[in-house]
Amino acid sequence: MLQLKNINVSINEVDTPLLQNINLEFDLKKITMLMGPNGAGKSSLVQAIMGNPNYLLEGSIILNSEDITQLEVEERAKKGLFLSFQQPIELPGVTQLLYLRTIVEKYNDIKIKPKEFRKQLDEAMEFLEMKKEFNQREMNVGFSGGERKKNELLQLLLLKPKIALLDEIDSGIDVDGLKTISKVIKYLQEECNTTFIIVSHHEYLLKNLDISKVIILDEGGVAKEGSKELGLEILQHGFKGKKIK
Ligand code: ADP
Ligand code: MG
Repeated sequence: MLQLKNINVSINEVDTPLLQNINLEFDLKKITMLMGPNGAGKSSLVQAIMGNPNYLLEGSIILNSEDITQLEVEERAKKGLFLSFQQPIELPGVTQLLYLRTIVEKYNDIKIKPKEFRKQLDEAMEFLEMKKEFNQREMNVGFSGGERKKNELLQLLLLKPKIALLDEIDSGIDVDGLKTISKVIKYLQEECNTTFIIVSHHEYLLKNLDISKVIILDEGGVAKEGSKELGLEILQHGFKGKKIK
């Protein structure tokens, strides 16, 4: 289980924390959907869980009874954590092929022969229906929003993490892309028992995935927790709907 105990998240020491007194439990091998209005702190929370040093975190993060609060990003990744960014960045000068091989080697502490990696990559790209020409390009450079998101899915599929935090993986993606997201999530759940924490407000994902819990962040904290039905209510009535608050 992944537990957040009395978590505060801030940008700097001066301002009031963006999030205060967060206590949450995420069941392993399940899918939790994290929702909340713009600016509620969803991205900040997942970034802080991953260990982004730009966010100050107080409290503790416990993974399978182990306190991982003090671990660096790389060490958390080694424990199986993965975060897909809401806004993936460009890496000019770094080819997709080199970047992806490097992360797979670092993540798993292994060396892979280029030919062997090409095979893995080809399979993953075929699964995602991505064109092979992408491999020759620089990481995310000139990619459309949707293509960048597909690239995040590609990393997810190659790394096969234990716990995947997906921050608005559906934004900017087309209808077929939504089906691909759902296909990847279901595949990883079945093959690798991956736990998912998904920041999303997409009806398609809510209805098509086996969402075990919905968490609403609002006004600096957890406003409500519930089942899939809570998510569907939000989609119908909005965050200010009388049934929610
Ligand atoms: P969400 O993902 O729920 O839309 P965010 O976590 O991105 O929200 O942001 C929460 C709040 O923190 C927002 O009001 C945002 O403007 C603010 N914020 C996030 N990062 C910074 C930063 N580096 N500097 C100042 N404010 C920030
Ligand atoms: Mg966000």
